[in-house]
Amino acid sequence: MKAIAVIPGQQNSIHMQDAPDPAPAVNEALVRVLRVGLCGTDAEINSGLYGEAPSGSDYLILGHENFGVVESVGSEVKGIKPGDYVVASVRRPCTECFNCQHGRADLCTSGKYTERGIKGRHGYMAEHYTESPEFLFKIDKAIKDIGVLLEPMTIVEKGAAQALEIQKRLPSNPRTALVFGAGPVGLLAAAALRVRDLDTLVVSKEADSDPRAQIAKAMGCRYFSIDGTSLGQLGKRIPCPDMIMECTGSSAVGFAAMQMLAADGILCLLSVTGGDKTELVHAAEINRDLVLRNNVVFGSVNASPTHYKLAIRALKTAQKKWPGVLAQLITTRLPWTDFAKWFNREVSGIKTTLEIRG
Ligand SMILES: [Zn+2]
Ligand SMILES: [Zn+2]
Repeated sequence: MKAIAVIPGQQNSIHMQDAPDPAPAVNEALVRVLRVGLCGTDAEINSGLYGEAPSGSDYLILGHENFGVVESVGSEVKGIKPGDYVVASVRRPCTECFNCQHGRADLCTSGKYTERGIKGRHGYMAEHYTESPEFLFKIDKAIKDIGVLLEPMTIVEKGAAQALEIQKRLPSNPRTALVFGAGPVGLLAAAALRVRDLDTLVVSKEADSDPRAQIAKAMGCRYFSIDGTSLGQLGKRIPCPDMIMECTGSSAVGFAAMQMLAADGILCLLSVTGGDKTELVHAAEINRDLVLRNNVVFGSVNASPTHYKLAIRALKTAQKKWPGVLAQLITTRLPWTDFAKWFNREVSGIKTTLEIRG
């Protein structure tokens, strides 16, 4: 079969190649990939920043945001059948830590987990893959057009669900939320918060007329364009929210957000910031404010099966409440042979997918 792969560690090594056709075991399904979503992780792996080939292979098939259809199942597979639309999760457990042995590879403590398309396992930019049903999630026809958004949705669902879980420490429930960033993750975070009926403000650098702002507003969010307003001044212009989700990719925004929380508020950091940027921060002031306001700051990455189920439910609710709105996140659908256009930054827009054709 054809596949899109990189040589991990080698800059701009992305290429299309032949790879062995996967042969499903009796307890596995064979899935035909329909499309994959592209994100910063794929770009960073192609830049050689990280990424790891499976042992015994000198290349890594890229791709973790996936959507496909089951083509056949082994004799021991139950619960899924040919024709089912599915999304496969990304992370696989290590063999030694307690959390991985208890279904929470997203909370792996050994660091020896693997991730399809990222770390030690081939990804989904291929015509087919095989997988055990425990890592496959069935997608209803009602959300098949946005099924490729499930993986990034699981990231924000885990963040939102954990924030609300932690806030059970309070007698009151969070009512107002702020999302920093109107990229795919920020807009999906806004959807996750609106599905939970939080009064949500999205703050990003795009103008009010930008499609990103329009999508946020179509889901009942307010939108604030930070263009021309410094982060420091922003705190004086908007009310302090009970909950903030940081989705910009900027560490400076994360620290600014720490000083914008309402009393008892919580900040969820979702940006995996690369590089070694240093920043002058008002450490004493930030520490004092966090203490005096009983604030919580936490980071979140990856997702468990529970969050995949929550994310499916959130996509279904969003599709029902705002038909067709989340589909507007997918601004470019490239035939997969045109993958280089995205990696060479010839494509702009919110989210690009590669449409896989055999
Ligand atoms: Zn991604
Ligand atoms: Zn582990």
